[in-house]
Amino acid sequence: MGGSAKFCELAVGLAYGEDAQALKDKRVASVQALSGTGAVRLFAEFIKRFQPESSAYLPVPTWSNHHNIFRDANVNQNTYRYYLASTRGLDFEGLKEDLKAAPNRSVILLHACAHNPTGVDPTPDQWKEISKLMKEKEHFPIFDMAYQGFASGDTQRDNQAIRIFLEDGHQLACAQSFAKSMGLYGQRIGCLSVVCADAAEAAAVKSQLEFIARPMYSSPPLHGSLIVTTILSDAALKELWYKEVKDMADRIIGMRTDLKKNLEDLGSKHNWEHITKQIGMFCYSGLTPEQVDRMTQEFHVYMTRNGRIRYYAHLQVVDDIHRALFSIFLINSMAGLTSGNVEYLFAHNVFFLIN
Ligand code: PLP
Repeated sequence: MGGSAKFCELAVGLAYGEDAQALKDKRVASVQALSGTGAVRLFAEFIKRFQPESSAYLPVPTWSNHHNIFRDANVNQNTYRYYLASTRGLDFEGLKEDLKAAPNRSVILLHACAHNPTGVDPTPDQWKEISKLMKEKEHFPIFDMAYQGFASGDTQRDNQAIRIFLEDGHQLACAQSFAKSMGLYGQRIGCLSVVCADAAEAAAVKSQLEFIARPMYSSPPLHGSLIVTTILSDAALKELWYKEVKDMADRIIGMRTDLKKNLEDLGSKHNWEHITKQIGMFCYSGLTPEQVDRMTQEFHVYMTRNGRIRYYAHLQVVDDIHRALFSIFLINSMAGLTSGNVEYLFAHNVFFLIN
């Protein structure tokens, strides 16, 4: 029910850092999960079963499926402030106020890095404050880590929030996905881990997670775990994967710089700082729903109506097919901007709609 033990061992090494004390102490319970979604869902079911009076606090905004997952698991839901539209950055004061106001021992969902949908992450110092505050309140953190490596290009830098929380002595959970970082969407490969008080508690938590998995899907699929295990247990393949993740992150960072520079070179007076400040695959462009509609109808540039330039699965293939067949341009994510389509945006001055 818990999937491949070898896969889980490698996955948690990646998430927490191979030298993490919690791993040496054998107090991390981990099970293979049906990608990131399945990992969050398993955790939600666990909370419902063992801490049914708790509420799960989700950031505003968050990946919309988070709401569905906790709703369908019948876990009480609440929210905390995260994004401040006026600065297109973190609402740090609002976040702290809301976490302080939440009842002690609440469950707090945090995006480990490359926040979806805003692309806004706390700084290391802000993470330290959040960790301290949550320790005082005895809140329980669940880190959703769907994009490890996509923020900085370095998987071991993108887990810094988790390492800060571990240093502060938190027990926590982590939902990992390999859908994006290894391009394994269709394999549904992820991991749910829970850092416990000691090895005995970890064994008990693991077996309870397996009990939850058993009537839902019995056992997770094998193929994805074999792919991840093959890559992470071979030094040369792992090095190659690290490099490819970095190439991917660097390309996105480069596209952000180009987009901002081109807009400024074209004479836009608008402040586009947020394009390069935000991180990962998502960018809140600041376009209003009406402006997005105009971009769609007049220029065939598609994004969600909240102005999010967002992630698109199997991007290159989809992008190429659409370009060939319909001559439209997908900029569902920063990864969707390419040297081939970025000029189209400028040629049509579509971003000038915001002025
Ligand atoms: N968590 C976040 C924040 C996401 O953005 C996503 C995917 O979009 C997921 C979890 C789930 O990913 P998957 O179930 O495909 O691994």
